[in-house]
Amino acid sequence: MPLTNQQMGQIEQIYLERRNRAQDEAAARRRRIEAAVPEFSRLEREQAELRGQLIEARRAGSVRRAAELDKQIKATALMKETLLEEAGYSVKDLEPQWTCKVCRDSGYAGGEKCSCFRPTLVNVLYHDSALWERVKEESFETFDITRFGTRPDIAALSGNSPREVMTRNLRTAKNFVKNFGTKMQNMLLFGPTGTGKTFLCNCIAGALMKEGYAIVYMTAVEYFRMMADMAFGKSEQTIEELMDSTDLLIIDDLGTEIETTANVSLMEETIDRRFRRKQSTIISTNLTPEDLRRRYIERIASRLLCYQTLPFGGDDLRLASRSRITNL
Ligand SMILES: [Zn+2]
Repeated sequence: MPLTNQQMGQIEQIYLERRNRAQDEAAARRRRIEAAVPEFSRLEREQAELRGQLIEARRAGSVRRAAELDKQIKATALMKETLLEEAGYSVKDLEPQWTCKVCRDSGYAGGEKCSCFRPTLVNVLYHDSALWERVKEESFETFDITRFGTRPDIAALSGNSPREVMTRNLRTAKNFVKNFGTKMQNMLLFGPTGTGKTFLCNCIAGALMKEGYAIVYMTAVEYFRMMADMAFGKSEQTIEELMDSTDLLIIDDLGTEIETTANVSLMEETIDRRFRRKQSTIISTNLTPEDLRRRYIERIASRLLCYQTLPFGGDDLRLASRSRITNL
């Protein structure tokens, strides 16, 4: 399927950001090392000086001098390595940690598209740039647990406080990311609006997109509209392509889509296909388990309730932050 210039531009932008991030992080690690191990910088300068002398010696044809310098350079490198290890670092810390080692985040290897190109393409095909902005703002790094209340929530969280529950959910989400790619993992996030479900989905999506996985992340309304377009041949992509190429599918706000038999069967198809292919899925919903059973056929509901379930509760954070702003 031919890509538009805009899509190609977006893909190039993603690779550029990956390269920049890897290089910036390596530079930052180097600065930390230089500050923490002053002797390291001295050895670096010494090594550079010796390299200069080696070039001179080779140019002058003095073989013995060159061999001597070569030995000194190797000895300095070894000293640097030992020094770093003693300080708790390694030589690898100085190198950029590429998302894809094969193509060093260029997207191409040996004149061909690298295997990391496909997931990157999927992330571009099925989303606009809004998702990229969102996962930058709402990530594990920006997650603020103190936003969640400490008052027990009897009704939704069986007497636990939102903060306690969120601490557990956060740990589960981090494990999900850590174990991703080793096994199929499915999660059902349920609870009222504004209690952090979407935020946690953004954290997971962003972390996995950074690792180069193909994520399709949509609200239930968007998802079922797209599935219907695909089913009726109104889209360039097919349901097979979508399912096959998606490492993780996240459907946000299940239950907000129109209640039709077509949507129920598209949901059934989604769940079955992903289950058969051992592909991970995350679904968030405002519906309670009882609502799920009422709204979807038993087969769907019981499959969903087999997912690892994460409860959410407490006050609506969106309202809370809005009232904080008006209080200012
Ligand atoms: Zn690659």
